[in-house]
Amino acid sequence: MFEDIPVDVSPMYEGERIRSANMFVELAGPKSLGAELVQVEENVEDGKIEVIGPELDAMQEGDIHPLGILIEIQGEHLEKELEGVIERRTHELCNYVKGFMHLNQRDAIWCRVSKEALAAGFKLEHLAKTLAILFKEEFPLIESIAITILTEPAKVEEFVAKAKEEYQTRDARARELSDEDVDVFYGCVMCQSFAPTHVCVVTPDRTALCGAINWFDCRAAAKMDPDGPIFEVEKGDIIDNVKGEYSNVNSVLTERSQGTVERVFLHSVFEYPHTSCGCFEAVAFYMPELDGIGIVDRDFRGETPLGIPFSAMAGQCSGGKQVEGFTGLSLEYMRSPKFLQADGGYERVVWLPKEIKDSLEEFIPEDIKDKIPTEEDASSLKEIRSFLEEKGHPIMERIKTPEAEVPEEE
Ligand code: SF4
Ligand code: ZN
Repeated sequence: MFEDIPVDVSPMYEGERIRSANMFVELAGPKSLGAELVQVEENVEDGKIEVIGPELDAMQEGDIHPLGILIEIQGEHLEKELEGVIERRTHELCNYVKGFMHLNQRDAIWCRVSKEALAAGFKLEHLAKTLAILFKEEFPLIESIAITILTEPAKVEEFVAKAKEEYQTRDARARELSDEDVDVFYGCVMCQSFAPTHVCVVTPDRTALCGAINWFDCRAAAKMDPDGPIFEVEKGDIIDNVKGEYSNVNSVLTERSQGTVERVFLHSVFEYPHTSCGCFEAVAFYMPELDGIGIVDRDFRGETPLGIPFSAMAGQCSGGKQVEGFTGLSLEYMRSPKFLQADGGYERVVWLPKEIKDSLEEFIPEDIKDKIPTEEDASSLKEIRSFLEEKGHPIMERIKTPEAEVPEEE
């Protein structure tokens, strides 16, 4: 099936890492820009492959180029709602290609091509052809598929802007619904290929931590493929409405995590926080010295107040582990009124990068907004403390009461 492709294609290459020494070029990623987008459309010319902009053989070793991956699909039973879930598979399927590495999702993608792949004659055109075959194989509902790869900077820029609009439309829709409005949540085990005990619980208020899959996406996916990686989870009895603990969510989680995780609080970083696979957009971390919570996202380059960068923190709490005081989350979850509600929501947040703060402008309560420092106001715990004191952040009341120093008693 892959006879025209000069490199091997198999799920066995999924964990392949391409380090700088072995890298020919980098595409998208933190030093450039990029996005991937699946669109359900009419009149898709099946098998149409296009590369707009320089191909790999026109690039120089060590270059960094922007990258856009547009996947247009058509099928009688394909719904628009499936776009998000199908798009999320791009990550896995790109990684089947030996010598091609794909990280993250949406407009956070970051890819690399190895020197060996280039030497074998691999081109972006082959990546597109491979994806066209794999997507049809994975999703029989796809009748026609066309793939466009963009590397031309101006075109990628335009494409990323369009993709962001699409992501926003998807996210905004889910915002209209809340956890109480539904009887079923969804589970996703797509990331078990590298985090074998990780199960995402996706609810109207808690968009999956990868930021790419919301409750509506899951509903469409579970309907299309009930035995697939996304499945219905009946809520069962409410154990704690504020923390977000439900009897049947716990049972399903226990079963699907092979007994590793028995309880989860959907809206807290304490005791039984949601587990984290590795693709979270941000991490919430507890700082006992301030009895407050900090947030750091993937794009933040500096050090967090804990003295470590995002990458080191991600290493400590990823892989499907349940680590008290840490939880991976999506930026969209920070727009939910239930955002860490059991811990005090934004009243408990004592640090976050300026970029996320600005992007969440309308979702952070007015009376607390100016009291939360960013890296521009403070970076060490000491500086944060003075800032909080000066601005009269509500957390200062808690720190002054001795009981608050024992986080377990939350
Ligand atoms: Fe599924 Fe969660 Fe992985 Fe997103 S992060 S693909 S929701 S398991
Ligand atoms: Zn993941």
